[in-house]
Amino acid sequence: MSDPGQAVFYVCSGCFSEHSRSHIHVLPTWNEYLQDFVTTFRCDKCWTDSLAWTQLKAVVLTEDTREKFCLFLDGHDCAEEAAIIRQASLEDATRQVGIILDCIASGTLYLRA
Ligand SMILES: [Zn+2]
Repeated sequence: MSDPGQAVFYVCSGCFSEHSRSHIHVLPTWNEYLQDFVTTFRCDKCWTDSLAWTQLKAVVLTEDTREKFCLFLDGHDCAEEAAIIRQASLEDATRQVGIILDCIASGTLYLRA
């Protein structure tokens, strides 16, 4: 059993340093090796570069990358958004994914750890 008074730290997957939850951003990150969007934790210093990389990958979605992004959303309590993106044309889906990434960038969409 964990001590409720014990601080929880997260390791930034960009610089591998430890941070408290308030300084960690939960992001979808395109992983070239896995060819998939994975959940990553990034610190205040690293998160904008990481998100910019994902935004570049999402500029031109394919049916495959669309589904992979939707699976990422399903895993982060965003199943409604994923359903809308799955039903859209690929062009509209790309626009909607861009909006979601912009919302993460501006802090209006906050993914839970
Ligand atoms: Zn970092």
